[in-house]
Amino acid sequence: MALTNRQWLIAARPNDRMLLESDFEWKVGEARTPEAGEVLVRTLYLSFDPSQKGQMENIGGYAAPLHIGDVMRAGGLGEVVESNDPAFKPGDKVNGSLGWQEYATKPARELNKLEDDELLTEHLGALGGTGMTAYFGLSKLGKPFPGDTVVITGAAGATGSVAGQIAKIGGCKVIGIAGGPEKCAWLTEELGFDAAVDYKSEDVRKAVRRHAPNGIDVLWDNVGGDQLNVLLAQISLYARVVICGGIARYATDEMPGGPQNYFNLVFKRATMHGLLVLDYASEFPMARARIAEWIRGGRIRTRSDIQEGLESAPRTLIRLFNGQNIGKQLMKL
Ligand code: NAP
Repeated sequence: MALTNRQWLIAARPNDRMLLESDFEWKVGEARTPEAGEVLVRTLYLSFDPSQKGQMENIGGYAAPLHIGDVMRAGGLGEVVESNDPAFKPGDKVNGSLGWQEYATKPARELNKLEDDELLTEHLGALGGTGMTAYFGLSKLGKPFPGDTVVITGAAGATGSVAGQIAKIGGCKVIGIAGGPEKCAWLTEELGFDAAVDYKSEDVRKAVRRHAPNGIDVLWDNVGGDQLNVLLAQISLYARVVICGGIARYATDEMPGGPQNYFNLVFKRATMHGLLVLDYASEFPMARARIAEWIRGGRIRTRSDIQEGLESAPRTLIRLFNGQNIGKQLMKL
């Protein structure tokens, strides 16, 4: 008997505006039986990432286009229910692009088998896309030296929190910028950041000048807009600016102005580099092994913000743009 499959489809494109719950449509259908080379997976956890909004906008970029009526795309972790491929058997834990649905029928080649251990859900966070972004953005582009001052915007999110801790392992002074006292306290009291700046209540320019009197050697930017502009004025000689994300632009119906202070890159002979984590996919296994070691050894601490129930998927994605999440935003089905 076919399994009932509840899904969220894309109903509208959120271009030039905030995401709305009405951008999605609830559908109840049936899971498709796997054909040769396919696997039926029950979704256990879904990952929520700001780039999902960009993919719905379909304005080009690195991801394949999404269309109105498609199941909302999302990385997920699940359990094999039925397999028509020798590489998988029922009960195996896997991850892949499962989408906002209870069951996904996927080609076996698009799934990865996971160890069913205590780090299982980390494969959607520190051992997944956001952890890989932090590792390669820092090691390939930020290139911090021990003693460098590293400033991270969006520091209490999934990517920023791991990037900051890797910089600490590398012997740097790390300053995080985040929204609200709870996030800032988490950064300094639990993750070992040297300082945190609450951009919602503090003057970022003055606070960073106080914490980084000799300037910023590595600027990791998840936010863009005003924060990037203010921080560009404080980079040191030969600084490396890593552009990881620009989430500030998602909140408004107009693009923020370009950073007026960009010419400081010339005065400081600095570089500003765009990051796309997929460029380093061939090296992910090595990075995963290192980060897993650091988590097991207590050198990297992770936090998942876990919402429950597929019904609340649209609200959960919106949390990222309201800054409601601390650490990695996940959903348990
Ligand atoms: P996240 O940081 O866990 O969540 C998003 C956070 O952004 C929120 O918690 C909020 O924190 C902050 N934020 C939201 N709106 C903001 C605004 N208007 N101004 C300032 N901060 C705002 O998400 P993530 O998955 O780790 O992604 C972080 C960034 O990295 C995103 O921009 C994402 O697109 C980017 N990224 C890039 C790559 C790549 O390959 N280049 C890969 C993965 C992720 P506060 O409460 O602190 O504001």
